[in-house]
Amino acid sequence: MKVLSRLILASNNQGKIEEFQPLLAPLGIELISQASLGIESVEETGLSFIENALIKARHACMRSGLPALADDSGLSVAALNGGPGIYSARIAGADASDEDKVQALLQQMAAVPNDQRQGCYHCAIVLMQHPLDPIPLIAEGYLEGIILEQPSGVGGFGFDPLFYLPTQKCTVAQLSLSEKNKISHRAVAVAKLLTYLNP
Ligand code: IMP
Repeated sequence: MKVLSRLILASNNQGKIEEFQPLLAPLGIELISQASLGIESVEETGLSFIENALIKARHACMRSGLPALADDSGLSVAALNGGPGIYSARIAGADASDEDKVQALLQQMAAVPNDQRQGCYHCAIVLMQHPLDPIPLIAEGYLEGIILEQPSGVGGFGFDPLFYLPTQKCTVAQLSLSEKNKISHRAVAVAKLLTYLNP
């Protein structure tokens, strides 16, 4: 892997960007958001988190001429046959607010009994050197929890106010950023990626 000095963060999700900055600090490189270069989001046409992360990273590389790191992530609930999964960001339609997404999930789970409300956050990250990079680095992480019947907490983003962690006895939205960054699906994926870069 070539030595990195600058990296595009291929995301327009402010919540993710805030989490990535401290997680990627050990790389000691300049992180540039794709929005700051006027790079628009690309259509996510993949059928898995990994495919969508590859699509986003390749798009950002192509538009910027720089290496890019992309994350595709979401919530998978067994009682919803793995949904909303790769459609998590679109559960309430394009451009919906986090509040709308929380309400849409609650509606889909209205009839799911307490003992079947397990969910799992998944994250796939891809680090690509250039659009034709034949060996992009890929790392994954996950975090298990329970989907509550009402939101609790104001931190994090997305479904965090509904995502209860039995090990922490609180929702992800009740954790600080640094606490979430110790255990999250994104943190686990980044930690793996860092070991690939610095074995
Ligand atoms: P993406 O931007 O297409 O990867 O979609 C990610 C979506 O998954 C977000 O819009 C959230 O709904 C959900 N999601 C992913 N990671 C998290 C997280 O850490 N907390 C809460 N929701 C998340």
